[in-house]
Amino acid sequence: MAQAPKIGFVSLGCPKATVDSERILTQLKVEGYGFSGSYEDADLVIVNTCGFIEAAEQESLDAIGEALHVNGKVIVTGCLGAKESLIREKHPEVLAVTGAHEYEAVMQAVHAHLPPSERNAHVDLLPASGVKLTPRHYAYLKISEGCNHHCSFCIIPSMRGPLASRPIGEVVREAERLVADGVKELMVIAQDTSAYGLDLKYRTDFVQGRPVRTRFYELCEELGKLDAWTRLHYVYPYPHVDEVIPLMRDGVILPYLDVPLQHASNKVLKAMQRPAAGEKMLERLAGWRDICPELVIRSTFIVGFPGETEKDFQELLDFLDVAQLDRVGGFAYSPVEGAAANALPGQVPEEEKQRRLEAFMAKQAEISTSKLRNYVGYEMAVLIDEVRDDAVIARSYADAPEVDGTVIIPGRHDLQPGQFIDVEIVDSDAFDLIGVPVTDSDD
Ligand code: SF4
Repeated sequence: MAQAPKIGFVSLGCPKATVDSERILTQLKVEGYGFSGSYEDADLVIVNTCGFIEAAEQESLDAIGEALHVNGKVIVTGCLGAKESLIREKHPEVLAVTGAHEYEAVMQAVHAHLPPSERNAHVDLLPASGVKLTPRHYAYLKISEGCNHHCSFCIIPSMRGPLASRPIGEVVREAERLVADGVKELMVIAQDTSAYGLDLKYRTDFVQGRPVRTRFYELCEELGKLDAWTRLHYVYPYPHVDEVIPLMRDGVILPYLDVPLQHASNKVLKAMQRPAAGEKMLERLAGWRDICPELVIRSTFIVGFPGETEKDFQELLDFLDVAQLDRVGGFAYSPVEGAAANALPGQVPEEEKQRRLEAFMAKQAEISTSKLRNYVGYEMAVLIDEVRDDAVIARSYADAPEVDGTVIIPGRHDLQPGQFIDVEIVDSDAFDLIGVPVTDSDD
């Protein structure tokens, strides 16, 4: 039997791009392609790019250049594909350029430059859930593509188009396959998760023969029936988000909400043209916590946005003080080519942006340190991510993988990634907790 042609794959960018990569890899595997971990051994290389900020754009262009230099046969896909002329100007030798989630176009380009030798040769070897780039026990579940908003710092809507939700039956079937295949935690992602179904007018679809509406609340309810943690990311605080908080209180889905707020000053939020900018966030947070006291809130913020004055920045710091968010990411504003914010007056000097970012992160580290201290003495269920010789790295419901903290269990233990155990929290620092197992380590 002829050897299967081998593909090298580079996946850059956010979790949404990772899901695109997984779909392409799954299709390649279905068609009998093999994979190579090195450019030298591959017959062709696919680079899934990111174009969100300038630094990501440069990283993508560098990755294309390196793949071309070592291998020579390169297909480009992903967000940066929206800027085909830029790619071709820097790297005229690329074989094809396709955009984000254009799986068919990527496959056509692969077929044209590297035909499969034995079609469907590996179908039986493919796990039902497809090929995943995340560790086996957690997976990103992408429920929609695109976005209907026009935040002034973002070019995603022009790259990925308007909101296009997947019907609920299809999403739940994918989730069921993932769970059947050993996934213990589902991270629900989209550009705008809580807008799910709006474009389909919340159309009724079928989940195991039952009619169910394609809507955020119903999605949470259905995913909550599966034997896995469900964690919500990129949730804008539209009023209907309140409906899912009782599902968190009742243990249907994790009491965790990733709400990218980006700022606290109404003036800056308006300039950013943020969705749900008019919401009274402090009142909303208090209401959510009344219903579900264990709720953990993660958010991200941009400092140094054009027009942000010292007063606006102070408003943001004051907001952090009062809001007491659990997990916070901060970024200094960085212009993205083609974004409307580039033309706004009052650009903040780079040095000042960095100063504000440091002050912002220091403030949050203080808040996080004191919040994490409250966990000491309590027992929590944790999911094991990694087993090392000297420690086990796990996460509780309060930590999303890759972006939040961890629960470190010191010492050597007979545990496996993907296993749940109960730990007692014995110590904490600014971002992580230290725990010791309270159940038998063979659980
Ligand atoms: S909500 Fe705003 S930041 Fe998020 S993808 Fe849409 S336009 Fe971009």
